[in-house]
Amino acid sequence: MRITSLKARQVLDSRGKPTVEVELNGHRAICPSGASTGKHEALELRDEDKFHVSKAVNNVRIVAKHVANKNLNQTSFDKILCDLAGPNKQRLGGNTTTALSMAFARAHGDVSKITNKRSIPVPFMNVINGGAHAGNDLAIQEFMIVPIKFPNYSQACYAGVEIYQQLKKIIKSKHGKNATNVGDEGGFAPPLKITRDALDLLASAIDECGYQKHVKIAMDAAASQFFTGNYNIDGKFLSPKKMIDYYMDLAKTYPIISIEDPFDEEDFQSFAALKKKAKRFLVVGDDLTTTNTERIEKAIKANSCDALLVKINQIGTVTETLEAIKMVREDNWEIIISHRSGDTEDSFIADFAVGTGAFAIKTGAPCRSERVAKYNQLLRLEEAVIKFQGRSFKLP
Ligand code: PGA
Ligand code: ZN
Repeated sequence: MRITSLKARQVLDSRGKPTVEVELNGHRAICPSGASTGKHEALELRDEDKFHVSKAVNNVRIVAKHVANKNLNQTSFDKILCDLAGPNKQRLGGNTTTALSMAFARAHGDVSKITNKRSIPVPFMNVINGGAHAGNDLAIQEFMIVPIKFPNYSQACYAGVEIYQQLKKIIKSKHGKNATNVGDEGGFAPPLKITRDALDLLASAIDECGYQKHVKIAMDAAASQFFTGNYNIDGKFLSPKKMIDYYMDLAKTYPIISIEDPFDEEDFQSFAALKKKAKRFLVVGDDLTTTNTERIEKAIKANSCDALLVKINQIGTVTETLEAIKMVREDNWEIIISHRSGDTEDSFIADFAVGTGAFAIKTGAPCRSERVAKYNQLLRLEEAVIKFQGRSFKLP
């Protein structure tokens, strides 16, 4: 594909923070932004004020000089980005390269057909927010409902919506209407401190809707955020060993399908120890693996994970993201494509999740337009009669 026009601008993300939008041959893409960012992620370049992204936007000009009028494919385009950006995408900014690479993918073709493996992912809907995403005292960052046992995506999606609305009623009756305000990812942020209290709310909402057999629960601990040598959770300080028992105990009470980042982002061994014990749930790497093949290689060697959380802006290009997916698939991991807590109306990841045949998509609650944009795009894609991934695994 020949690049005939390329421009960039600063637009806003869902937290009202500036981010980079690129327009390539008339096709737009916007880079999202994290809050509980992994240490090993590509650099998000901001100006001296640590807020605006005018430098990152201007860096698109540097790229334009190298790509204008050249005939490029995704691999050769992304290679130019990688060479210009250097280690960690420091010279250009990972936000610049991500928006560029996604815009190229869109201009080049239908992202929902980016590989020949296609399916509709299971939605992981984050309906109770804690950690760095909410103003409450829950250590665990995300409590998700996973409508997995449904014949198709739209039924799964609407079951998620029903449970979300039921949860709102329960929270209102237990904690008052102020507790139904939503956090960054559209989930509720009730004034809770204890993990089990949040899980009980979810279990009640699922039960009251009659979906006990169809819906599981997932958590993203984002544990680096409450790790200070031990883990500060539920008013206690637990050692990594005690945390393994803690998670195994939770899985005895609740229908847990996966736990993401259960330990600090450098602790490949504790991930592996939990994975060995967890027969009924998946251990997911996010901050641990950062969509980075070097980190993933370590995780494969240590046997740390069953699933990869995929965020394009953690690594900075579509090509490297596809390489990460390929690498973990060879080791039989599941793929979960993910939004960021600061996201936008861009629904690229919905197409990308379908186009890579990912098992799941994690894109917040069915609330707030930047989250719903992805769920809506999947409803559209479902009309193309693509198989739904709803299936049980590792479960009795
Ligand atoms: P983030 O959170 O976008 O704030 O990093 C999402 C996650 O941890 O999965
Ligand atoms: Zn995470």
